[in-house]
Amino acid sequence: MSVVVISGGQIHEAGGQRSATLIINTETGTVDDIVADGAAVQGDQTLDASGCVVLPGFVDLHSHLRQPGNEAAETIETGSRAAALGGYTAVVAMPNTTPCMDSAAVIGEVVNAGRTALCEIKPSAAITMGRDGETLAPMAELVDLGVRMFTDDGTGVQDDQLMRRALEYASSLATDDGTQIILSQHCEVDALSHPGVMHEGAWSAKLGLAGQPAEAEELMVMRDIALARLTGMNVHLQHLSTAGSVEMVRAAKAAGVPVTAEATPHHFCLTDAACASYDPVFKVHPPLRTDADVAAIRVGLADGTIDAVATDHAPHTPDSKEQPFDQAPPGMLGLETAFALALTELDLPLDRLVEMFSSAPARLAGLGARHGGPIEVGRPANLTVVDLEQTWTIAGDRLASLASNTPFEGRTVRGKVRHTLFNGEPVVVDAKAVR
Ligand SMILES: [Zn+2]
Repeated sequence: MSVVVISGGQIHEAGGQRSATLIINTETGTVDDIVADGAAVQGDQTLDASGCVVLPGFVDLHSHLRQPGNEAAETIETGSRAAALGGYTAVVAMPNTTPCMDSAAVIGEVVNAGRTALCEIKPSAAITMGRDGETLAPMAELVDLGVRMFTDDGTGVQDDQLMRRALEYASSLATDDGTQIILSQHCEVDALSHPGVMHEGAWSAKLGLAGQPAEAEELMVMRDIALARLTGMNVHLQHLSTAGSVEMVRAAKAAGVPVTAEATPHHFCLTDAACASYDPVFKVHPPLRTDADVAAIRVGLADGTIDAVATDHAPHTPDSKEQPFDQAPPGMLGLETAFALALTELDLPLDRLVEMFSSAPARLAGLGARHGGPIEVGRPANLTVVDLEQTWTIAGDRLASLASNTPFEGRTVRGKVRHTLFNGEPVVVDAKAVR
């Protein structure tokens, strides 16, 4: 056994912080003790947390790790390194890989590759075979392998009846650990969004690019809220991007419909005006929207309408992103910059940030027993130690991701992850990954 000591930091607790030293047992991966600062403690390794807060590790509900199939853009290993550097101790891997994560064989491959990762890799699986929107995936078999989230992310399930059947099927399934199964939806009505490459509005008209109206997202948000009401089954709405979507989710929650939602940093930091450069680094689905939409997302995050921040981390090789705007693939990096952007851009108390980055997504991902806090003796040591005051400048070529397609190049942000511990093991020390 070895003992890791985290000293000099402020430990985050609901409603406050306290100065204390954490003693971590790397064999059990748990917090062995929390003692007063200055107490004599013996450790094999001491991590300096002075000037930092110690938070429960972050959980990302939405990462594209590109393995299997596009390991030139990212692998589970490189994606997990980016995650750990961003303060994440668990990441839900999206299923739009090649082949698609719709079978026991591919889920098994991802689980195996995740065993040596620098954070927990929780596979999601497709709702339909090959994400074709036609035939349901073998959900029961995949639940038995640990899958808790199903999504055809990249596209939404277009067929109303099939989505209803998927929800009813999922509600009939039990998990061995009592965690819930969630169907997550990329809300986009293809018939309205195609062939749009950016938000439909004043900027798309000016730039001569085909647009996707806000209604393409909102119609599916509306339908899925209706189906959640009809079936009583949870629907999680991914990467909300419009004011109308936020308003519908707020009303649905008030009415007791079992719906949850996430939003990405790019949808609360950037608008469609960024597309004026024709730089494909700003191309993403759902697209960057208007100032009013960004404001609504921020209010939704503040008042709890939107439960979690999710990155939609979407690495692409330079070759693919260097195509013209209308041909380049959509997507942006997110794991290493998400928390700093939220801290810098959202005027929210740390308690709320911890909910959005850690406790809420841990619960939604079915990881609440291991991630999401609270930080207590006996609980798993999945922790991130953050200097909330340190500023740094985002540079794509200095990120650990294999790709460099960040839309925040050159932006100075506040909040730097100093250490990350995954199951008690320091995986980031002094802002550097240990492997
Ligand atoms: Zn999506």
